[in-house]
This record gives sequence, structure tokens and C-alpha cells, in this order.
Amino acid sequence: MDLLNLLLENKIENTLYFPPNIKSSWLVEGVLQLFPEEQPVPEKQSQTLSQEKNTDTLIISAGIHGNETAPVEILLQLLSQLAQGNLPLQHNLLLIFGNLPAMREGLRYLDNDLNRMFGGRYKNFPAGNETRRAIELEAVVHQFLSQPAIMASERRRHLDLHTAIRGSCHEQFALLPYQTREYAADFLQWLEASDIDAVVFHNAVGGTFSHFTSEYFNADSCTLEIGKALPFGQNDLARFSNITEALRNLVAGSFIVKRNKPALKCYRVVDAIIKQHDNFRLNIPEDTKNFTVLAEGFEIASQHNHSWKIASPANFILFPNAHVAIGLRAGLLLAQLT
Ligand SMILES: [Zn+2]
Repeated sequence: MDLLNLLLENKIENTLYFPPNIKSSWLVEGVLQLFPEEQPVPEKQSQTLSQEKNTDTLIISAGIHGNETAPVEILLQLLSQLAQGNLPLQHNLLLIFGNLPAMREGLRYLDNDLNRMFGGRYKNFPAGNETRRAIELEAVVHQFLSQPAIMASERRRHLDLHTAIRGSCHEQFALLPYQTREYAADFLQWLEASDIDAVVFHNAVGGTFSHFTSEYFNADSCTLEIGKALPFGQNDLARFSNITEALRNLVAGSFIVKRNKPALKCYRVVDAIIKQHDNFRLNIPEDTKNFTVLAEGFEIASQHNHSWKIASPANFILFPNAHVAIGLRAGLLLAQLT
């Protein structure tokens, strides 16, 4: 049976074994902790090696939205390579399969959007599958990061992998959570080296998983949108090979900055369109692509007594979606950074 079926049938814990130099334990369903075991070092080399030793902490999550299948397949591929000893593990690693009940149904979520609930925001939603999971994931991340081996590690990074619902003028992009401290230069370099097309810097805190790990645990975090996904088994993983390779390099602690694509485009969020009324309207076609440029003065959305007009330079739209629940984001307006 393949790993995906084992994961979906909750049999993976008792089936997957790792080489002796990887210490593994499942913390809750769909959450696997992997630690590199200290290897005995011959005396002659011990000094040089210990100087080079640099164990950081890495969290990679996928399937926070259950219908975003390609990231789940990519994570399973990494897992399989680690288990077969084909990928060395340099860092403490937490792999998270986010929303298994939604994955089984092929749905984004069962009750409410899990990626709006982090940082305690699950309290604003009626109890359900996703509120339970948000509570569980917050607790498990806290438990993982509170272990002595991890407290001693220098850096924490979190990559939360997603695929977009709609088409996009930039197929692969990262969303960096709002943070008051500086963004780590080597993290931005890794994003550049991963050959994604664009990065977007948020201007406000939010309920996403990557905001949570950045805000509460000072992790270098991002939501990584890797393209459009098809149902399980229909994804062409070759389309995501740049991401897979960048993740492998990060896990193995061996990334080098080399970029094959044109220069990375940078944007910042300038305004969020929040749906607060039943009469909310978004005045663009349903299939408008992410990063579409809109004309200055155009009224992109309206509701009750509020209207959003495009003001230069905030003229790019991201994640437009009129069908979100009241109180949630129906789109972001972006300005390009030069
Ligand atoms: Zn998603």
C-alpha cells in the first residue's frame, strides 16, 4: 500500500520505519517529529566537525486545506526519502499533515477554514473539526518547540505549503507574515533560491498557521503557494520540482543560492477587503487571477456603506473571493515593491 493510503487510513504510524540515525515519533495523528541522532565522530575529525555542526529546527506543513493535494504528496515524498536513507537529516524536523478528515473528503475544510483559526482565533468559530485541529496543532507545535534539544537550536523555520484555488499571474509565491522584527536574510535567500516567482509581505497579523509560528515562536515562517493542484494521484510533481529540491536542501542543511528564473517580484499588502455584510459585492469576474493589475479609481468591492476603490500603487489583487463567511477576508490589495 502506498504512503498516501496509509496516511489517509491512519496506518502510517505503524508501517513507516526510519534508519537508526533518525529518531522518529508521531506526536498526534498526522504529526511526525524527526531528530537527527548524534553520530559518533572519529577523534581526529571531531574538532572540525563540531565546529561545522549547526542543527536548526524546521517545521513543514501541508494539507491545512484538505483539497490541496500536491503539498501532501510532496511531503510524503520527502518522508519516503528520509525513511529510505536517501535524504540526510540535518535539522530537527516536524512534518505536519494538517487536515486529514478534509483530505479524506477532498474538501478544503469540513466546518470552517482552519487557516483562519490560529493564534487562539478558533474561539471565534463554532466548535467543529477544524477548531479541534487548530487547538491540537497549536499545542503540538508548542510541545515540539519546548523540548530542550530544540530550545538549544539556533533557528526555527516553518514552511506551510498550499496550492491556490484560482489561476495566478505568478504561479508560485510566498506570503510572509507581518512581523516587527526583521525578516531573516538567509530565509529570503532560500525563497529566492527556490525559484518561486514572488513574495508578498503582510501588513497585519492574522490567523494563518505561518503567522502563528512567526508571532508566538519567532520562527522564520511563510505560507508557500506552489501552484494549482489536482485531485490526489493526478498531480504532475515534476511541476513542483524546484520546491521539492529546495525543501530537500533545507532538510539536508545544504542550500546554495542559485536562481534560474527571472528576478523575484516583491509586493506588500496595503489593504484587506473584509466581508462584513450579506450585500457584499466583488466587482471582478470569479476567475480573476491572483496578482491581476486593476485600474486606478476602479471600485473593486462594496458593501452597505463602504466601498473599496483602487488607489495607485495598491493596484494588484490577491485571493479575491466573494464567497467567504461574514467577517473574513475577501481579498488583499497589494503594491509592488521595487
Ligand atoms: Zn490553502
